[in-house]
Amino acid sequence: MSNDVYDCIVIGAGPAGLSASLFLARYLRRTLTFHHNSPRNEYAHGVHGFLGHHGIRPGELLARGRDEVMSHGGLIIEACVTAVERVSAEHFRVFVGEDVNERRVFDARRLLLATGLRDLTPDCPGFREFYGWSVFHCPDCDGFEVRDKRVAVLTRGNNSLGFVENLLTWTRKLTLLTDGGEISSEDRAKLAELGVGLRTDAVLRLEGDKSTKQLQRVLFGEGEPLECDALFFSLGTELATDFHETLGCRLDPECGLLWVDDTQQTSVEGVYAAGDLTPQSQLAVVAAAEGAMAAIHIHRSLQDK
Ligand SMILES: Cc1cc2nc3c(=O)[nH]c(=O)nc-3n(C[C@H](O)[C@H](O)[C@H](O)COP(=O)(O)OP(=O)(O)OC[C@H]3O[C@@H](n4cnc5c(N)ncnc54)[C@H](O)[C@@H]3O)c2cc1C
Repeated sequence: MSNDVYDCIVIGAGPAGLSASLFLARYLRRTLTFHHNSPRNEYAHGVHGFLGHHGIRPGELLARGRDEVMSHGGLIIEACVTAVERVSAEHFRVFVGEDVNERRVFDARRLLLATGLRDLTPDCPGFREFYGWSVFHCPDCDGFEVRDKRVAVLTRGNNSLGFVENLLTWTRKLTLLTDGGEISSEDRAKLAELGVGLRTDAVLRLEGDKSTKQLQRVLFGEGEPLECDALFFSLGTELATDFHETLGCRLDPECGLLWVDDTQQTSVEGVYAAGDLTPQSQLAVVAAAEGAMAAIHIHRSLQDK
């Protein structure tokens, strides 16, 4: 194969992609990483629970990561990958650019998908002002910060009660908001048993101190505002790209994320995946660990040839 073919192309430069790129560069593998600058936690005020980096700004963690990759000889290009193709078992092609006539093409022997997830977020006014500071979606990431505080929980669907019960780890001052959605009588009874409040009115907007990004209350279409210190939401996620479909990668039927084996390889030989788009816990430190694992196995698979 010619020198123009990379050992691996990594799509996505969040914790998963960068961690993989760093290890691949340290294995002296020709690696090209695409960086589109919209990591999932760009709104967070700090990355919690990342040992040795607890509280670091997400942008700083990634900037350091990019520097580390490049100082090891890894190549990073800031560009959006628009399409991927499996040319043969050992040959993958990546396209950058929307216009077919101006598209740039890159080839590699292995592909690592590390493009993460997109969160479905509330669309009410005020959300963006507080997101990542006093409005959160991940109890594992930010539950500790709301210990014993008044927390509103905005969620729909079957997992609402599980999400609420998880937050009871940190506070009992919880109110579930259904934003106009239905709630079964069984769930109402369970909430009452747990001492969790319930508001079924449509959410109108979030208010608080914008200078400190501190949420203070939720306003509804009807009824009194709810005074609170934080809001957690769980409205679902979606895969950031559909590259897995083009490549034919299987999804895990239980969670709808990319199925991977214990080497981080997808159901398509030569295509690996790491980070939030696989079924493990969605944490920065887990994504970084999966990226490292993927790199180890990509390197080994190339050695075997
Ligand atoms: C508000 C918020 C707060 C969080 N707080 C914490 C926390 O405190 N602690 C913690 O451990 N975790 C936290 N998380 C979770 C953590 O951010 C994720 O688990 C982690 O970012 C996953 O890393 P990843 O590399 O898989 O994906 P991401 O970080 O989402 O990175 C994916 C990358 O792929 C790129 N990409 C996507 N499509 C393309 C394309 N077509 N071409 C090129 N690049 C592309 C994106 O631009 C992005 O840079 C938080 C998440 C959110 C949303």
